[in-house]
Amino acid sequence: MARAGTLHDAFLDELRDAYDAERQILKALPKMAKASGSPALRAAFEAHLAETRTQVERLEQVFGRLEERVRGKHCDGVAGIIEEGKSVMQEDFDEETMDACLIAAAQRVEHYEMAAYGTLAAWAKAMGHTEVASLLEQTLNEEKAADEKLTSLAEGGINRGAAASAHPEKNGADEDAPEALTSARKARSAAGKKALRKK
Ligand code: ZN
Ligand code: FE
Ligand code: FE
Repeated sequence: MARAGTLHDAFLDELRDAYDAERQILKALPKMAKASGSPALRAAFEAHLAETRTQVERLEQVFGRLEERVRGKHCDGVAGIIEEGKSVMQEDFDEETMDACLIAAAQRVEHYEMAAYGTLAAWAKAMGHTEVASLLEQTLNEEKAADEKLTSLAEGGINRGAAASAHPEKNGADEDAPEALTSARKARSAAGKKALRKK
């Protein structure tokens, strides 16, 4: 009977998964850059594309240090997220809504990668693969920074712009505006009455 796999085996599997994920992301990012209306968002995707190339090389270095052949294993998780991103890009949204949706899709990818590299770095550290752990942490930090950059673009104007075309009458008012609060309260109390009637 084959011996049971160890954490090192699971680690290699996860590295192959990450390697394949990065290569899928390499193909998706230029499409997302192209679909961006905002020049700042486009630049952010292009910058992360360059970083992603470095991340692929870093994983190749990791395989080298572990004396393993460089190999990918299809990452279904990222494939699914990219698939969803593609269907969003086929929608007929106004420009700022599309940008908001591109950010939403990209942040799902970044969070997936943060989870993957967080685990990989922690496992490498636990097994005493110190240099490998620090390579993985470098990538983890880049993914976190990419995610934060996307948040700052969304909150720095893209969401507000998209919301303004969805609700021009609110004229850029935010949720805390008295009028919005009143109508939210009305909606809640109407829903409450309905629920009471049902009882
Ligand atoms: Zn190990
Ligand atoms: Fe990455
Ligand atoms: Fe990334």
